[in-house]
Amino acid sequence: MKTIRNFSIVAHIDHGKSTLSDRILEFTKTVEKRNMSAQVLDSLEIEKEKGITVKSAAVTVKYLAKDGIEYIFNLIDTPGHVDFSYEVSRSLAACEGAILIVDATQGIEAQTIANFYLAFEADLTILPVINKIDLPAADTDMVSKQIEKEFALDQCDIVLASAKEGIGIEDLLEKIITVIPPPTGNSNSPLKALLFDAYFDKFRGAIIHLKVVEGTLKEQEKVKFYFSKNTYQVEELGIIGVDKANRQKKKELIAGEVGYVILGIKSVSQVKIGDTLTHEKNSCQEALSGYKEVKPMVFAGIFPTVSEDYNDLRNVMEKLQLNDSSLQYEKDSSLALGFGFRCGFLGLLHMEIVQERLIREFNMSVIVTAPSVRYHIEKTDGTKIMIDNPADFPSPNDIALTKEPYIKATIITPVQFLGNIMGLIQEKRGIQKRLNHIDEKRIEGIFELPLSEIIFDFYDKLKSLTKGYASFDYEIIDYRDTIVSKVQILVNKEPVDAFSFLCFQDSSRERSKVILEKLKNEIPRHMFAIALQAAIGNNIIARENISALRKDVTSKCYGGDISRKRKLLEKQKEGKKKMKSIGNIDIPQKAFINILKN
Ligand code: GDP
Ligand code: MG
Repeated sequence: MKTIRNFSIVAHIDHGKSTLSDRILEFTKTVEKRNMSAQVLDSLEIEKEKGITVKSAAVTVKYLAKDGIEYIFNLIDTPGHVDFSYEVSRSLAACEGAILIVDATQGIEAQTIANFYLAFEADLTILPVINKIDLPAADTDMVSKQIEKEFALDQCDIVLASAKEGIGIEDLLEKIITVIPPPTGNSNSPLKALLFDAYFDKFRGAIIHLKVVEGTLKEQEKVKFYFSKNTYQVEELGIIGVDKANRQKKKELIAGEVGYVILGIKSVSQVKIGDTLTHEKNSCQEALSGYKEVKPMVFAGIFPTVSEDYNDLRNVMEKLQLNDSSLQYEKDSSLALGFGFRCGFLGLLHMEIVQERLIREFNMSVIVTAPSVRYHIEKTDGTKIMIDNPADFPSPNDIALTKEPYIKATIITPVQFLGNIMGLIQEKRGIQKRLNHIDEKRIEGIFELPLSEIIFDFYDKLKSLTKGYASFDYEIIDYRDTIVSKVQILVNKEPVDAFSFLCFQDSSRERSKVILEKLKNEIPRHMFAIALQAAIGNNIIARENISALRKDVTSKCYGGDISRKRKLLEKQKEGKKKMKSIGNIDIPQKAFINILKN
């Protein structure tokens, strides 16, 4: 056990986690240089393309240190985004140390702080690394000072590195040995293993990544999960490789070790990240702490662009869920869009990832409705319900009280943009809790605001108001009183359910106007005038008009060329096929996509 080091790499997005992991794999010859592609641990296509880590990845590497001893490093690359902070917290719980990377040109950002506190609260030894020292704009002195001031970490312990150029890698590996403690635990105690990750394998089902905290886990043993209560027999266990080709089978895993286990479970949706694995008999008395049921926070409908594709979409959703246990969905239907699914996501990024995977991995064409948070509603008859779908929203007369989720937001910004940010926070119904100088140039602000304001038009505004220099992170804190309305969009008096949305009452007019304006541009003129209206109940809160088409479409085919005329009419018929009819109005399919694009 003395030669094991379990650590995570955490950082703000783009500060170089994955690249540094690559260098460690290369330096320790875990992956041959010629087999090295950038960001080896990012295995989803979308991760490579977007350059972000969506799923945490663990790998075991062996390092022959300068003292002549071969050490075993269990390295866990974690997603940096707030949507996945529970996963990050479970990965950290499997470690004794964390490498905290800070970009030498950017300094501490919002997620640096969030990750530091996650690691700090998990009692990990934190090893700071300043990365990208190769860049001309690197300011290591400044960033060192920030790290010392914000995190009370000694400047002498900071490793200076360039993951890109491979500078400081050996220094870092040696530091890991001296600074991060080996795991503790007794291999003779009752088994307690932390399930910190799982992924899906076509042939073997769920491959579970765990850390044995106490006791010993052996092949063929009968085991059970503490929270999910299910029992299984161990089919296979061993050490995690970079890919399944160099997974290494073993007979047992003992306290302190990190590895994989295969239990014959079909889908990762059946395992709970953070659960404790123990023996069926002689089980441990209490579970490892920190387990939490992850709840989706953002909801939206996903519908096939062509209604006939519903069955295909259903198959694809099943496949997606096999390796994304946080994705939740149930059947939904809409008058305008037909059958589809109501889906729950961890946050906006998660939603975007699911959408992109549908399109890219599965070639599905889908329409995604406006995202919503989940409101807690107490009805006048005393019943309590949770609503995220506008279709299920009760009549205003039946609502006694509504609460909506609030977040604590951390924004780090250059001082000159603070005024802009305050304006934005106010517009988004937020309050300022605290301001704190990180250095002379940058400031950290803590705010509280409704989650619903973040999922609508927040990131883009923050970005443009701060020229992209601000970073943002949040956590859900509680639910607070609010007044929410269901807004319906009517096209010639007919409600189009796909456009309905839930919204803070005072913002409803503003948001309706935006949608009506877009709709006006998307619906082609008809032979008669079309009224576009937004309504709360029977109350019209905004309106637009599309005036009647005066000219006959064929009128430009002056003269008597009958075949041209026919062609044009034919073409028009084609176009009509891609329309949805609402009453006697034809709405082009792409209108739904464009309007709901956010
Ligand atoms: P992550 O989001 O923390 O995983 O960051 P990545 O490892 O994906 O790196 C983000 C970007 O920074 C990529 O374009 C890398 O090539 C680049 N990068 C990472 N480390 C260095 C470095 O040491 N020097 C320079 N110049 N670029 C780096
Ligand atoms: Mg990455």
